[in-house]
Amino acid sequence: MSAGLAQAAYIVAALFFILSLAGLSKQESARAGNYYGIAGMTIALIATIFGPYSQGITWIIIAMIIGGAIGIYYAKKVEMTEMPELVAVLHSFVGMAAVLVGFNSFLAPPEYSGEFAHTEHVIHMVEVFLGVFIGAVTFTGSIVAFGKLRGIISSSALNLPHKHKLNLAAIVVSTLLMFYFVKSDGSLFALIIMTLIAFAFGYHLVASIGGADMPVVVSMLNSYSGWAAAAAGFMLANDLLIVTGALVGSSGAILSYIMCKAMNRSFISVIAGGFGQTVSTATDVEYGEHREISAEEVAEMLKDSRSVIITPGYGMAVAQAQYPVHDITAKLRAKGINVRFGIHPVAGRLPGHMNVLLAEAKVPYDIVLEMDEINEDFPETDTVLVIGANDTVNPAAMEDPNSPIAGMPVLEVWNAKNVIVFKRSMNTGYAGVQNPLFFKENTAMLFGDAKESVEAIAKAI
Ligand code: NDP
Repeated sequence: MSAGLAQAAYIVAALFFILSLAGLSKQESARAGNYYGIAGMTIALIATIFGPYSQGITWIIIAMIIGGAIGIYYAKKVEMTEMPELVAVLHSFVGMAAVLVGFNSFLAPPEYSGEFAHTEHVIHMVEVFLGVFIGAVTFTGSIVAFGKLRGIISSSALNLPHKHKLNLAAIVVSTLLMFYFVKSDGSLFALIIMTLIAFAFGYHLVASIGGADMPVVVSMLNSYSGWAAAAAGFMLANDLLIVTGALVGSSGAILSYIMCKAMNRSFISVIAGGFGQTVSTATDVEYGEHREISAEEVAEMLKDSRSVIITPGYGMAVAQAQYPVHDITAKLRAKGINVRFGIHPVAGRLPGHMNVLLAEAKVPYDIVLEMDEINEDFPETDTVLVIGANDTVNPAAMEDPNSPIAGMPVLEVWNAKNVIVFKRSMNTGYAGVQNPLFFKENTAMLFGDAKESVEAIAKAI
């Protein structure tokens, strides 16, 4: 393939990627968005592999078959609830790839000639240094995010003494090392020391962020992985990689910003590893007794209601309860009861998690409302079913200024006449904070697996 044709193919691929992002912004067009992305990536791969600068095509294809097979196996095997973990691992691969490309590009640098050869060489050195730095931070940051999502690492914030000074020191020392690296015309020692610092920095940055802020961390790492890919694009002088990396980097940054606004968090505070946040220590507050209820009683309560709101959370995903939830929704609507869903922006473990599950179970889009659209309707609601949600319906966010989730907007379910909470125990949610909702007078607990409980209610209705 000629260089001109490869370049033209890159432009077409970049357009497909832009169409893909546009498609993914709405539920109705998300499927088309995925297809655009696949088309763009196929064109990009063909143009690169058969392009003018590729060598050893057989090796590339063997590596792609092995990598592709592993990818397909895991993507098929992974449960919907494990999706964020998969995304975190994939981000770590992008980070590691940028580190490896950086070292490779340092050990086998491109030849520059002509008037600006020295300037181009210096620019390349800076690209290598920055690319390795961003890649290394993304790598360890994503590994920690994976560990926290999987529960291998504690989801509470690591609070080392002088943590912000440590972060600042890492940045200052890395910057000084960059000057030394350029001045010494490529000191391998400086590059290796910076890589080690960046690994530790990435680890510390994400470990310092508390559980409730993890959604922002995941989208932030998505953004970092984009910038790492763009940096690799600069090192390899590959325009498409630069464009694609910038698209991922900026869309990830916008998503992080939207998530921060939804959670009433400071964007700067979260990307700076919890900068300016005071980490409160849990205090043992006596909340009193909770009340239990049976599935049959809930069924009666629902039949006597005129308006019902269902607020699903992570537990609905774990239990795969969306199908029986759709069943009771249909049964109640057939009785003329107004049933709607209230979706918190960070319910579940990935953005849009609940919307995907409900769409999968064929719940109509028009009764699935965002938190802001439904929060004012709770006082006029007879019954709220909190199915496997916890942090997203926790009144402590509004009532307790010392709570780790203080300030986060929540679904104000306690304003309804009756609240039924579906969960298996009195355990806390992802953020690790107790929920005073469970002890309110108008709340009753329905213990057990959410799917079994909802099925029992459907039967009783
Ligand atoms: P939570 O994680 O706060 O709580 C889920 C509840 O579901 C738990 O209390 C658990 O209680 C219950 N549960 C688990 N399995 C079952 C089951 N099989 N049957 C019934 N109940 C079950 O969920 P929310 O959706 O309210 O909040 C999401 C949290 O995750 C927030 O803190 C958010 O910040 C964080 N997060 C969100 C991400 C996103 O992008 N959306 C990404 C990363 C983190 P029990 O064990 O007693 O059953």
